[in-house]
Amino acid sequence: MINSKMILHISIVMIFFLLTKATPIYKNKVKIDHEIEGILHEKKEVDQEESFRCGPLPKRIIKKVKEVSWKENDKIQLNDLYYVEVLHWGFDYKVHRGELIVHRKVAEEVMEIFKKLYDKKFEIEKIRLISEYNANDNLSMADNNTSAFCYREITGKKGMISKHGYGIAIDINPLINPYVKGDVILPKEGKKYIQRDKKVKGLITKDSIVYKLFKEKGWTWGGEWKTLKDYQHFQKNISIE
Ligand SMILES: [Zn+2]
Repeated sequence: MINSKMILHISIVMIFFLLTKATPIYKNKVKIDHEIEGILHEKKEVDQEESFRCGPLPKRIIKKVKEVSWKENDKIQLNDLYYVEVLHWGFDYKVHRGELIVHRKVAEEVMEIFKKLYDKKFEIEKIRLISEYNANDNLSMADNNTSAFCYREITGKKGMISKHGYGIAIDINPLINPYVKGDVILPKEGKKYIQRDKKVKGLITKDSIVYKLFKEKGWTWGGEWKTLKDYQHFQKNISIE
């Protein structure tokens, strides 16, 4: 027999379920085009908060970067590097997944900066590991790919390891934010963006949210350098010994 006491009991259980389970599950979800590794998978619903993560390099990532973007050396080891997962707004106004490798000392703040860029809907076309481009920076830049770690020399300075080689530099939307030194423009396809027209999507100027967020955390912007302009480049000068 169902009496009023039982109905009350069932109602309380149902209300409790709705409050604790149902609401939070749907509140933070967002649709994304899942395209890690350059392959467009099915549209997927993901939790926005849980999609921003960082930690030591997973085994599958170590397998990808070893002998590609990371090689045996005495300056930076694989356990100095962290894997950062983010969401970002693409040039198509959709949410995409992104992945970065940075030094473990800056991983947390890089993740926070990208979370704020996502909240502010700053457009970033792609964020893929440079190993997807066989560690070829020209290919990555021409594809407008945002990336951080790559064990390589400074552009134009043989024998000197770049800040990217330590995972403390990030290049953002490099095609439309090229490197310019005299006649040298990298990527060369970025030539039409050397005039810094603020109306271009994903372009970085001193008024950009991306500039403000990196500056707040003590990063330097290559667009402010005197001898050359590296509009895509942010770096943090920290001791990594
Ligand atoms: Zn750079």
